[in-house]
Amino acid sequence: MKKIFLLIMITLLLLTSCLLPSQGGTSTPEPIPPTSTSSPVDRSIYKDGLNPAYHSILNELPYASLYSIDFVIADDLYHVTGSETVTYTNAEDIALNEVKFRLFPNILGGEMTVDNVMVNGEAVTPNYALNNSLITVPFKDSLEPEETLTISMDFNITVPQTVELNYGVQAYFDEVLTLAHAYPVVTVYDDEGWNAEIPPQAGDVTYTDMSFFIVTVDAPKEVTLVGSGREINRQDNGSRQTVTYEAGPVRDFYIAASPEYEVFTKEARGVTLRFYTRDHLQSGAEQALDVAARSIEIYSERYAPYPYTELDFVSTPTLALGIEYPGMIAITEWIITPDHQYLEGTVAHEVGHQWFYNLVGNDQLDDPWLDESLSQFATLQYFTDAYGQGGSEGFRSSVAGRWERIGNVNIPVGLPVRAYSDGEYSGIVYGRGALFFEALRDKMGMEIFDTFIKDYVKNNSWNISTPEKLKAEAEKHCACDLTSLFDEWIYP
Ligand SMILES: [Zn+2]
Repeated sequence: MKKIFLLIMITLLLLTSCLLPSQGGTSTPEPIPPTSTSSPVDRSIYKDGLNPAYHSILNELPYASLYSIDFVIADDLYHVTGSETVTYTNAEDIALNEVKFRLFPNILGGEMTVDNVMVNGEAVTPNYALNNSLITVPFKDSLEPEETLTISMDFNITVPQTVELNYGVQAYFDEVLTLAHAYPVVTVYDDEGWNAEIPPQAGDVTYTDMSFFIVTVDAPKEVTLVGSGREINRQDNGSRQTVTYEAGPVRDFYIAASPEYEVFTKEARGVTLRFYTRDHLQSGAEQALDVAARSIEIYSERYAPYPYTELDFVSTPTLALGIEYPGMIAITEWIITPDHQYLEGTVAHEVGHQWFYNLVGNDQLDDPWLDESLSQFATLQYFTDAYGQGGSEGFRSSVAGRWERIGNVNIPVGLPVRAYSDGEYSGIVYGRGALFFEALRDKMGMEIFDTFIKDYVKNNSWNISTPEKLKAEAEKHCACDLTSLFDEWIYP
């Protein structure tokens, strides 16, 4: 997910035909037998949040998980309780005996406990691993391919009041609450099995499949709440407010809240852009929205239409410059001033992630270059298209400068985050990796490269890409063998 980071910058639901969010607290549903997914799920609630170019996707992800989550944010703004029900379908070609969930707060400086864990309404006992950031929920009977069941649990979170770990993605700090990955998150099952590790401090935390969400947030009335997706209901209850959101297909659900937030808005290409920040940062926020609008124009032409009808920005105390979430971007507060040297590049980079991370997913821990290097390269294309070849020189030199700062060492671009030191991660994945895509373009020729990128996005949209898929798509377009180029830049 994210990141251009600060350090290196010193040198620089259950939903059928109606909306039925659960009511929170402990619920004991009737046992539900496994069902097949042959009857299509009604996902019409998600239509208005999607760009019309993508409406058909609602019928094309039959196995996507459906999360129904209720959050209650306490008056102190750093204690959160909730309940979650996931409708989970076995999308694999083997039977599954369990499903694994991440409890990210337990490795992000806070604490998360779960109880009343149930599968189809029957209590089960989960096993814990990875410093309590992973639970295994066992099934009584194995779940055959294409069969569906529901997993439900209650949870309790204490949010850290510091931003020390993982850029402070999850924190209550300086009157801003950021709840990133703050619900039990289903782990991807892939060729590694249930794919889970403790994420390094550099780099993004999650690796997830496309899912659908119905989320209700109950919070003190004095805060402005921002949630992923589209607001579909709002109620005031005395000193409290309850807001319901739909989001999907998306890879994650993010919530920010602050009593300080004002909202600034812009329309671009059928997308409503909003920036939630402090009143005195209005001019920086409006400039960021201009950059975001131009980024959406450029990337929609170059890659594919932007997926949603909304894109929200929030200012946060994160130690990263910016962090991407589906349909949502966190920008660190100190760069939200007009003409700040990092503002335009950061916004263009994070908007690029809406294509490279969200629309086209990847294992962000094992293959960070697939989203980070590509978002850096997208930013280069943004500056070129917005200002001409000369205008892109500034960003290109900052990209090249990252690699130069580590002596232009030929460390491969295609390593997992954990294999790099902090300086190497910036220099290689954000520097050398972007230059790789220039080299690839030079090798393929501009016109063929442009078609390749479009087809790469189209053919991997809503799915998970891999380095092999990217290379194969490129080789198909150039009708050439790119192994030596990948040996030189990407492969260990
Ligand atoms: Zn990034």
